[in-house]
Amino acid sequence: MPLQNFQYKGSQLHCEGVPLRAIASTAGTPVYVYSSRAIRDNYRAYRNSLAGVPHEIHYSVKANSSLAVLALLASEGAGFDIVSGGELYKVLRAGGAPAKVVYSGVGKTRDEIKYALEERIATFHCESLQELDVLKHLAREMGLAPTVGLRVNPNIDAKTHPYIATGLSEHKFGIALHEAESIYRDAKEWAPLQFTSLSCHIGSQVFDTHVFGEALRQMLGLATRLGDAGVAIRTIDLGGGLGVGYEADQPSVSIRSYGRMLSEVLRGTGCCLGLEPGRSIIGQAGTLLTQVLYRKLAPKKTFVVVDGAMNDLIRPALYRAHHEIVPVSRSDGPRTECDVVGPVCESGDFFATGRSLPPCAAGDLLAVATAGAYGFVQSSNYNSRPRAAEVLVEGDRFRIVRNRETREDLVRGETL
Ligand SMILES: *Cc1c(COP(=O)(O)O)cnc(C)c1O
Repeated sequence: MPLQNFQYKGSQLHCEGVPLRAIASTAGTPVYVYSSRAIRDNYRAYRNSLAGVPHEIHYSVKANSSLAVLALLASEGAGFDIVSGGELYKVLRAGGAPAKVVYSGVGKTRDEIKYALEERIATFHCESLQELDVLKHLAREMGLAPTVGLRVNPNIDAKTHPYIATGLSEHKFGIALHEAESIYRDAKEWAPLQFTSLSCHIGSQVFDTHVFGEALRQMLGLATRLGDAGVAIRTIDLGGGLGVGYEADQPSVSIRSYGRMLSEVLRGTGCCLGLEPGRSIIGQAGTLLTQVLYRKLAPKKTFVVVDGAMNDLIRPALYRAHHEIVPVSRSDGPRTECDVVGPVCESGDFFATGRSLPPCAAGDLLAVATAGAYGFVQSSNYNSRPRAAEVLVEGDRFRIVRNRETREDLVRGETL
């Protein structure tokens, strides 16, 4: 099962030491459940595998921005990669250090840049000349000299889903390598900005780690040429993107061997390596627990109607993503083929189609696997559905770290 630290003990599926059934009865469903040990282990796997080279790990906040998750990673010493002022706010609220925050994104507003400058974040990853101009003027007004890394588009095909591939020249992201090079060479004209960093991010859910090696070599080549031209690059940030398994027997890319491969490429260059992992930290650390409402026998199909829906987890509808679905109470009865669907009024509202599932009846609990990353963060109130609760498990204990929204929450901020 593509989940870490979730296993059956007897017939009951547990997260670490806690039966999921107990979580559902306390927190209700649908509910996201995360293993804190899995999150910690994955973060430490990055740290340990890069121990031989200078490095900085910035967890990509957009994968899962719940305060409890951010606080857990902050306590491990992680930095954070943000893509909005809202994410910066959440990082600070969770106790993250602004000096370990890098800011990515193609459309930072003036207000967001000003906020990030006021909070003295570590580095801005800039993606256009106009953005550099806004940053330069604000930095001058405020008497600051922020560190900048251009996000270079290496024109590398990450061979992933088109919505999450970002490193080709047809994408909106980054600045072409040759153009970036000429901007760095004119770095002095951009005072007070400090061009001491380089960044790239070629996409998400990438399994072929050679493309990361190739991107790193390109970046190192550029850093060397810039060094010769008198522009010293201190950090190369390679972004995130390591793939995780979603199918039953699909292995994740090993963080350890990935880290070791990068260390080999980097060794002796004196450069500091930045990484921005998101999915590989939290994807397999989380599940969405949902309860079966009805079993509906239609002429051509069996529908298992559950209380979770596309507003809770949009990945199947948005990317046609596969998520394994397993019963919380193990059953050895005969399997049948069903569609697992939610209550939302869209035919695209499904978690699985044509899936062979063990017997399940109204009231049974199902766990939708690998839902830790890009799950809750993409949830919405579509169909006026309150958003799910979230639970963090630690050993034999669990905590509700986000209350389920109430009906009152559905009208917060509205006026008649
Ligand atoms: C989304 C994103 C990441 C994280 O990607 P994962 O696939 O979740 O590891 C890192 N850096 C940037 C700039 C991103 O946009």
